[in-house]
Amino acid sequence: MKELDHYHDLTTADAMDNLSSLTSMNKILLIEDNPGDARLVEIFLAESDLQHCEVTNKATLAAGLELLERGEEFAAVLLDLTLPDTRGFETLERLVARFPQNNIIVLTGLADKELGVRAVKAGAQDFLIKGSFDSESLAKSLRYSIERNQVLKRLEETQRIANIGNWEYHTATRTLNASDEVYRIFGCPPKKMPALKEALIQQACPLVVLFEIQELVTVGSVAKKDLKIRQKDGTQRYVFVQCSANKGENGHIIFQGIIQDITERKLAEQGMIKSQERYQEIFTQSRDALFICTLEGQFIDFNQATLDLFGYTEKELSEQQNAHQLYHPAERKNEFLLKLKDLQAIKDYEISVVHKSGEMRECMITANILASEDFDGYNCTIRDITELKQAEKLRKAQELARQSTQMKERFVASISHEMRTPMNAIFGMSNILMHTDLDTEQLSLVRSIQQSSQILLGVVNDILEISSIQNNKIIFENEPFDLYDLLNNLVEVMQYKAQEKDLYLEVIIGPGVPRMIKGDKLRLNQVLYNLVGNSIKFTDLGYVKIFVSKLHDIGDSVQLKFAIEDTGIGIPADKIEVIFDTFTRILQKDRVFEGTGLGLSISKNLIEQQGGKIGATSILGKGSIFFFDLIFETAAAFAPSAPPVSSAALLPDDTSFRLLLVEDHKMNQLVARKTLEQKWKNIRLSLAENGQIAIDMLNKEDFDIVLMDIQMPIMDGYEATQYIRQNFPPDKAKLPILAMTAHAQIAKDEKFRECDMDDFVLKPFEPDDLFYKISKYVKI
Ligand code: ADP
Repeated sequence: MKELDHYHDLTTADAMDNLSSLTSMNKILLIEDNPGDARLVEIFLAESDLQHCEVTNKATLAAGLELLERGEEFAAVLLDLTLPDTRGFETLERLVARFPQNNIIVLTGLADKELGVRAVKAGAQDFLIKGSFDSESLAKSLRYSIERNQVLKRLEETQRIANIGNWEYHTATRTLNASDEVYRIFGCPPKKMPALKEALIQQACPLVVLFEIQELVTVGSVAKKDLKIRQKDGTQRYVFVQCSANKGENGHIIFQGIIQDITERKLAEQGMIKSQERYQEIFTQSRDALFICTLEGQFIDFNQATLDLFGYTEKELSEQQNAHQLYHPAERKNEFLLKLKDLQAIKDYEISVVHKSGEMRECMITANILASEDFDGYNCTIRDITELKQAEKLRKAQELARQSTQMKERFVASISHEMRTPMNAIFGMSNILMHTDLDTEQLSLVRSIQQSSQILLGVVNDILEISSIQNNKIIFENEPFDLYDLLNNLVEVMQYKAQEKDLYLEVIIGPGVPRMIKGDKLRLNQVLYNLVGNSIKFTDLGYVKIFVSKLHDIGDSVQLKFAIEDTGIGIPADKIEVIFDTFTRILQKDRVFEGTGLGLSISKNLIEQQGGKIGATSILGKGSIFFFDLIFETAAAFAPSAPPVSSAALLPDDTSFRLLLVEDHKMNQLVARKTLEQKWKNIRLSLAENGQIAIDMLNKEDFDIVLMDIQMPIMDGYEATQYIRQNFPPDKAKLPILAMTAHAQIAKDEKFRECDMDDFVLKPFEPDDLFYKISKYVKI
């Protein structure tokens, strides 16, 4: 009873203080059937310092138990062992079995003193012998119970705060007695009474896991374990359990254990581990070198990218290398370290690092000082920007190349313009000259002038063409045309040249080749002219034959093959490929053939950009075959085209109409005037030297059509046209205006249409083209 003394030593005042805060603490249950004895207890109590206590008297054990079962709490139960419904030691056993936490003070008769001692051993707090206890000993015994209760309450509170519960399991009774906190941890309502093992199993109560721990423990040993448990509602919690086993009476075992809810800690730990893993992953997988080193440059921690950047092994880097010796050049390194120490952090500092192989890499370094009691160093991110820098250089070089291409293009365009203008004069004047009275010699001289200027014009056109091909500026038409007409025309024109050399020229159209097809007629013509022209040029004896055959029908389209066969000088086998390159010509020992070496290259580009293939086979000295294939839509895919313009569509020669020629170049004025007057004798032609003069004249006079040069001083052709379209009365504003320009580009970029011109005539003009265009627009 050593432990008890401690409580008995507490002063009454202390006890009173504590009592006032706990209401259930002054309630006492008296189970006593003898009214005299019951009365005596009340009198003794009233005499003692516990007079404030409230006594509830029940005469049978059943009545007492019923009250307790209803959940009423009492500081102590005064239990008479001899009752109408029970007697002797069994009375106590029955109460303890149901309510082991209660403070039971057993009341025995003098003769039953032994029973009292046994009762204390079996779980009663104390015993009082009827007739021999007085007010003081009753109060002392009750006070102890009250205080014990208080301690238990505090323990419970402590358990709740600490999230720790305790339990006991008696194999003798197969009952589990657990503190409120244990129940709370498992999410179950607390039970004051011990629970039977079988009942718990049957209810599938989460507490049953406690029995599993017990299986791991033998007498005298202790088991500790972290467990994941499921609460009644399914919520998962983490707990720590510790359990030990001791031998009780009759060899039965008593298991005792504690359980602690460690969910918060566990989750925090798991979160920490996860976040650590994540950062670790970023660290290891980063393509930037990430490392920590001391202020002296000793590597402490680094990732794979660091090893890759510097080229050393892990051991070499951590044991032999110093980060600061790998930075380069020395001045940059010093500046970097000074700035870092000074500012504590540095961002995107450009520096080079030396790889183990000696190779220098251009890098960007970002660093932050890490200062703590036991470490002076910095963390560092190094990004290798060598490739980035190279790409930047490449981009600049490409930009430069693009600019120079643009310049070249502009140069070619302006040169060709400059060449076309005077050629227009030569061509036009020789044309006029030819229609005057000339003797045979003069006529042949004028023809030579005309032919030469035509060749020169062809060269200028080729140069312009190749420059736009190389800049991918070609847009292909897709219009219906008559293939047979095209081929007949080709032969008609080329016949003249072939006959000059006494060559036989014919076209052979294979079975199934459709007449009406859709595609770029002009480009096809251009390629055929080029190939047939070459064949005639390089053949002195024999023939030139043009074969057209059908390769495949593809839905509404057809794949056609064109082959031009000649019996000319042929091409050496090793040159067959290169002749399609720009400016490639095969030099002949004894002869000079005119040409620029551009024709085949242009043809190849035109065919390939339309999805076709071009090639050649040849036997040196025997002849060559040039061939290409192209896909065209067939007649089934489109409506028949308008009939081709015949000479009947031209204005009759005696038509009288008013034409305003806007042109600053004297020579060109003359060529145009003479050409037009030769065709239409009754034409009334007026001249304006620039756009402004043209507008002034239009204000005063009426005209049927305007031929408008584009490049002119004071006001150019575009401006003048726009002014006319926007500012003149409606009938005049709609006047047909034809652009006249030496810019071959105009036809491709359609700028004349954006400027509201109706059409264009290219200088130097083909008279027929000029006549046709005028006839088309003049409405008389
Ligand atoms: P050009 O005819 O203006 O020189 P091309 O690109 O059309 O330029 O032709 C390139 C070269 O290919 C010619 O200079 C010539 O050496 C060779 N070649 C082209 N066609 C024939 C052919 N039918 N027979 C022999 N050689 C040819």
